[in-house]
Amino acid sequence: MATCKDLADLIFPDVKETTKDLDKRFPPRNLPEGAEVTRFAPSPTGFLHTGSLFTAMVAHKFAKETHGIYFFRLEDTDQKREIAGTGMDLVKQLKRFGIVADEGYCGDHEEGNYGPYVQSERGDIYKIVIKELIKKGRAYPCFCTKEDLDQLRLVQEANKVIPGYYGEYAKCRHYTLDEEIEMIKAGKPYVIRFKSKGNHLNHIKVHDEIRGDMDLTENDQDIVILKSDGLPTYHFAHLVDDHYMGTTLVTRGEEWISSLPIHIELFEAMGWKHPKYAHLPVIMINDKDTGNKRKLSKRKDPEAATSFFLKAGYPIQGFIEYLMTIANSNFEAWLMANPKGNMDDFNLSFDKFSLDGALFDLPKLNNISKELLANMDKDTFTSQAEEWAKDYDPELYGYITSDKAKFERIINIEREQEKPRKDYERFSDVTPKIRFFYNDQYDKMLKAAKLPFNEFIKPEVIKGFLNDFVATLDLTHDESTWFNDMKTLGVKHGFANDRKVYKANPSQYNGWYADCISLIRIALSTSAQAPKLYDVLEILGKDEITRRISEVVATL
Ligand code: GLU
Repeated sequence: MATCKDLADLIFPDVKETTKDLDKRFPPRNLPEGAEVTRFAPSPTGFLHTGSLFTAMVAHKFAKETHGIYFFRLEDTDQKREIAGTGMDLVKQLKRFGIVADEGYCGDHEEGNYGPYVQSERGDIYKIVIKELIKKGRAYPCFCTKEDLDQLRLVQEANKVIPGYYGEYAKCRHYTLDEEIEMIKAGKPYVIRFKSKGNHLNHIKVHDEIRGDMDLTENDQDIVILKSDGLPTYHFAHLVDDHYMGTTLVTRGEEWISSLPIHIELFEAMGWKHPKYAHLPVIMINDKDTGNKRKLSKRKDPEAATSFFLKAGYPIQGFIEYLMTIANSNFEAWLMANPKGNMDDFNLSFDKFSLDGALFDLPKLNNISKELLANMDKDTFTSQAEEWAKDYDPELYGYITSDKAKFERIINIEREQEKPRKDYERFSDVTPKIRFFYNDQYDKMLKAAKLPFNEFIKPEVIKGFLNDFVATLDLTHDESTWFNDMKTLGVKHGFANDRKVYKANPSQYNGWYADCISLIRIALSTSAQAPKLYDVLEILGKDEITRRISEVVATL
């Protein structure tokens, strides 16, 4: 009578190593007490999703906080779904968000002693483990064809029983070893299935760092662990990898909770301790049509792709800070209290995670981004704007690279001070706001625009005031002297120098001080919203101011 060992040797004649050899190849890591080994383990099936970035960010942060290791593993065992080149892209995109792995797959090479970090290159490891499971009687060959499985599903549907390959429905689990050996020798194609000892009437308790003790139905499914293409399935492969790569904390989406009983049973069958689990909330969005909360969808929501936020010009740190507010409910308050703080000083904690899907909140992202951009020093702002503009805004890129000093003076208006001006939510807001500083652009804008002067002020008054403004302009005066110059000039042209004075007797005046300042602002920028006027004057310089005013006066 054949033994399990005979079956194992028949299936894997070339596999000579055992899990003892693997234990030697991948010894325990030498890390300080409390250090977590975390990982991000995407499949190379497309672009970097917002949800995936969130997962990677959390894994990265926990490793960093505990002085542990964060590694990147490429889970490419589903080769039908694989899109060539996307593994490399994921590494690059994560890097743009500042998430760089301590070890693992790096796109064109690998780093670390626990590899290979690409699952399709780990075939020998999986075979060693599967051979051992077969020897222990915990795995078996299954010869069912697709038609057999379709037929099984029909029977189960008709009988209204739980679907799947388990217990009495798991036909191949009931063959004797001799029968199995005979069919393999006869060349019948097969996959390898795990032999579950569970019963779905039982419950198991599994601890989740975010959710506490979870009560789950025990696994009884004989899942496929090795497919007919010779590659393992996710359930099996990730578990072997997490074991031999020394993962201590698995952070992944909550959609994996339902498969957790399978993983727990596989760990038990191998005699391995399972890592800690933290199943993260899924990012939700309010559906634009129905108003109902639903999962962020790859197909419907542009926000599902991280590239959307890059293109839109959000500063990278702002987007990461926003994701941190989704992760921990107390992060936003911390950020408001520390607008210039280093995120490394904030520790993520499991008890501050929300349990039900976190809602995507664009106004909050805009606000965080606006605060961040306002508090950025001019050098950081300029280099980040340049990097963004290079890919997405050729006009801005031209401004920055042709005269960096001028660009820096422009964006430094009311920056680097205690209460900085909050001009920009994203880098894409910059070009329309600063375009008027550039002479040829100003000329185009002047031609195209009807200047928004206050219609109650007569054109002759505007003309007279603007001509006199140029004639008397002295840019060597400091800001407060200039301020007084303008009040005096305003009074000369019939503007009250105070709002109250004007309001008491409006018919006696052409307006008040703010109105005459607005005339200058509009004339020089074509808009009533330009930044602080004194700085605008300094940047434009007397010659250009004179030129612009004479152009405007000619139109009145
Ligand atoms: N490859 C899986 C995914 O892309 C990883 C899940 C896990 O982190 O265990 O969702």
